[in-house]
Amino acid sequence: MTLAIRFADIEAARERLRGVAHRTPVLTSRSADARTGARLFFKCENLQRTGAFKFRGAYNALAQFSPEQRARGVVAFSSGNHAQAIALAAQLLGIPATIVMPQDAPPIKIEATRGYGAEIVFYDRYREDREAIGRALAAERGLTLIPPFDHPHVMAGQGTAAAELFEDVGALDALVVCVGGGGLISGCAVAAKHLAPGCRVIGVEPEAGNDVQLSLAAGRIVHIDVPATIADGAQTQHAGQLTFPVIQALVAEIVTVPDAALVRAMRFFAERMKLVVEPTGALAAAAVFERLSLAGRRVGVIVSGGNLDCARYAQLLSSASP
Ligand SMILES: *Cc1c(COP(=O)(O)O)cnc(C)c1O
Repeated sequence: MTLAIRFADIEAARERLRGVAHRTPVLTSRSADARTGARLFFKCENLQRTGAFKFRGAYNALAQFSPEQRARGVVAFSSGNHAQAIALAAQLLGIPATIVMPQDAPPIKIEATRGYGAEIVFYDRYREDREAIGRALAAERGLTLIPPFDHPHVMAGQGTAAAELFEDVGALDALVVCVGGGGLISGCAVAAKHLAPGCRVIGVEPEAGNDVQLSLAAGRIVHIDVPATIADGAQTQHAGQLTFPVIQALVAEIVTVPDAALVRAMRFFAERMKLVVEPTGALAAAAVFERLSLAGRRVGVIVSGGNLDCARYAQLLSSASP
């Protein structure tokens, strides 16, 4: 079966993102290495524009719009990092953006999205279907819908994070990546296969939402109810039609971590590395600290994002066990 993206798509995405996306730093930590016995390289996408890797995929997708698509505009449905990523990418490219968000989305996210110049269309999350609203808007206004993960241009954009990491630190024994709908890990796995063929790509899901782990075991895309987890960026109910075959072909295994481990990893990032990391952004590190045995290995860890409300952040950190 042919996969939705090839390494050449990631290389092309890198050209589009050059000078636009940040080349995020790769940080190391002696205390993290001492704790795991591994040599860890943290790729800090919490320091990416808009605070998460999603800017990469969003910009790569919008930069490929035809003149007509650009003139008409883009629509996305998201309350989270994809919304901000699409809004900023659209602003930079002069494309009108419409974002479908729940009425009760956190005010900070609504403001951030509006701040990038997007028009926000609210919906009632208990009564209305955001996908249907997004599709209706796309049809009525001739907008192009860009989904958060299941799109080849989005997947290729996300893969540039891993490509940069390999370029900076060389070959790795393992690359640990969080998994929501699988856009990030599928792009990263294609980059790994090309740039570091011996590297084991390991996915991490919240314990409460292990749909991709179940899907790999079942050999088909398994749907689950909205999982109860603090990792809101990984509250997806199923992998994508395009991302899942890539995960099946190139990802070695998926492990899970409980929310308490995410809080402990967030606290480690704050105390030891001076990094603000959101719960979903801490998935890969939590698995490295508490689930995987990687002693003696060189390991890449994607820190996927750092967007969360200050009050919520303080509450989570103060609830962490020492
Ligand atoms: C969207 C998101 C994820 C999950 O990415 P997928 O491409 O859906 O697997 C992980 N972390 C953060 C911070 C995100 O915003």
